[in-house]
Amino acid sequence: MFRRPHKVKAPRRTAAPPAQPPGATLLVKDIGELVTLRGMFQRPRAGAEMRDLGIVHDAAVYCEDDRITDVGDSRSVQARNPPAQTVLDALGKVVAPGFVDAHTHALFAGSREDELEMKAEGLTYREIAARGGGILSTVRRTREASDEVLLRETAARLRGMLRHGTTTAEVKSGYGLSVEHEVRLLNLVPRLAESQPVELVPTFLGAHALAPEYEGRAAAYAELVGGEMLAEVARQTPARFCDVFVEEGYFTADQGRRILSEAKRLGLDPKVHADELTACGGAELAADVGAVSADHLLHATTAGLREMAAKRVTAVLLPGTSFASKLPYADARRWIGEGLAVALGSDLSPNSWIESMQAVISIATHHCGLTAAEALTAATVNAAHAVGKGSELGSVEPGKKADLLVLDIPNHRHLGYRQGDVMDAVVKGGRVVHRRAA
Ligand code: ZN
Repeated sequence: MFRRPHKVKAPRRTAAPPAQPPGATLLVKDIGELVTLRGMFQRPRAGAEMRDLGIVHDAAVYCEDDRITDVGDSRSVQARNPPAQTVLDALGKVVAPGFVDAHTHALFAGSREDELEMKAEGLTYREIAARGGGILSTVRRTREASDEVLLRETAARLRGMLRHGTTTAEVKSGYGLSVEHEVRLLNLVPRLAESQPVELVPTFLGAHALAPEYEGRAAAYAELVGGEMLAEVARQTPARFCDVFVEEGYFTADQGRRILSEAKRLGLDPKVHADELTACGGAELAADVGAVSADHLLHATTAGLREMAAKRVTAVLLPGTSFASKLPYADARRWIGEGLAVALGSDLSPNSWIESMQAVISIATHHCGLTAAEALTAATVNAAHAVGKGSELGSVEPGKKADLLVLDIPNHRHLGYRQGDVMDAVVKGGRVVHRRAA
């Protein structure tokens, strides 16, 4: 139907899983409801555009090697193409693009389940940190862990994410907080990508928290991050983005601006952890430096959101963090009303260990004002743009990577409505990488 020649440029920095053997073919046929999100926007969908899923009924998708080559009504696609080596029957089911998780801290050692009891007692994120929990306890364990332990523990999490439909994820550093350890974490990302199917996009987050060695010397640590640390990260690692946690008690907007300006000069695109706990200029900074995304935004000012919309900065909604940290839920309905493009991420970390984008979609639709269609757009094509892969991932169109979900639900609205195992099959790069047990 809408055939198109392959013309997808490989990104400069990436960490991709092993490729499909050449010549392999896959057909997904008799699809009840195919969510294509077609339209090949060269930018994320904003405002009302987020509701247009490009649904085709009684559809099929044909893939060669790792790419989608034909999409259309089921009978025509089968008539146009030779029999495929692998066939998935999606009768009465939904097929959608693989989920892209736009924001994770998935690379760490250990766990912090003990903090759940502190949360039950009513302690806040800051109070838990003051009791020796929080980010710095994970920094200690991550620094102590061998490469092998970090790879094993993180790969297990990634496989969990894959079973819930995540085919690509952004992964931040930020539990190293020294030149040596930040470089080490970022260089583990390609090895992780080779060890399991989820495609990974590495982000440098040296400005995640104040390194313990720098207590009382926040300005000196910010200078280290924007100076030697960033220079070594750019020189030695595959980091594609640079992120800064701009927040009271963490990094100021001015420090963030200096770090992100230097990052841009070195070829890393900016991202911002913005206005999560207080309004502190994070949204404005993201617009000002031309960030790809600003994430969290619970307390962002209306002026800041409008500046982001004008500069086309994607707003990354992380409702799992509100759930896990008992923070207010973001009013993403208002963001969409302001004309913003919204993407979704899990913010998977030892504080909010959420592997399932289906759960994230469910929280977003129940508590943040997203419709089912908007949440699905946010978890696929917009999240792909938020990690710099919008031209390659996030929709079901010829030329795009064959990342597909076969969902055992009658229509896409069931995705956020239900909290259960609806993932019938997950396809990454034309290969079936997960099948639900019969
Ligand atoms: Zn985060």
